[in-house]
Amino acid sequence: MREGGGGRYVRGGEARCYPPGQRMLDTGVLVLNRVYQPVHITSVRRAFALLYQGAARAIDEEFRLFDFESWAALAAAAHHDSIGTVGRRLRVPRVIVLLAYEHLPKARVRFSRFNIYARDESTCQYCGRKHRRAELNLDHVIPRSRGGSTTWENVVCSCIPCNLRKGGRTPDEAGMKLLRHPTRPRWTPTFRSAARRSFYREWRPFLSLADAAYWNAELLE
Ligand SMILES: [Zn+2]
Repeated sequence: MREGGGGRYVRGGEARCYPPGQRMLDTGVLVLNRVYQPVHITSVRRAFALLYQGAARAIDEEFRLFDFESWAALAAAAHHDSIGTVGRRLRVPRVIVLLAYEHLPKARVRFSRFNIYARDESTCQYCGRKHRRAELNLDHVIPRSRGGSTTWENVVCSCIPCNLRKGGRTPDEAGMKLLRHPTRPRWTPTFRSAARRSFYREWRPFLSLADAAYWNAELLE
């Protein structure tokens, strides 16, 4: 860490407490890989740690890249999110590029219970009610006994009463209708729910490049 001049924004990845900027440190920063594909959303706190360690560069609205020192030297204008540090305000980056991370976003999301619940937002796909995870089951839309596969396209979240009601039948036979047709998620569900909670205009160019249709459909209702 740089000593003096109020440079101690981040120490060992943990930000020091600088109210009222502390909550700002937990807001989202879009992380891109080296080919500018979005891979993750992290916190401002973590983004500063990555910048400081030289593992990432910050991008401004003109798509210029900055290392920690050059970013810290930028003046934070009134319209910029910033955090208070000793003696000055440090502008908050909203997009960073990883230097070492060359992997493309995983095309394949792990087919796990957790991810299915996340995709279906812990909502029973038959009655549409949201439940605690413990009150949900996984349901084979076409039952396994009828040749239904254990895949993203045939497994959904269901509450226990709906699950029992449906039994070993297809939705048609049981007179039940799926909320939506199950598909394999395009993004990791974590990424998707994080992007839903807050969305910064600085992210838009990168997300539109990745998949305009997907993002517009999701966010511009
Ligand atoms: Zn239900």
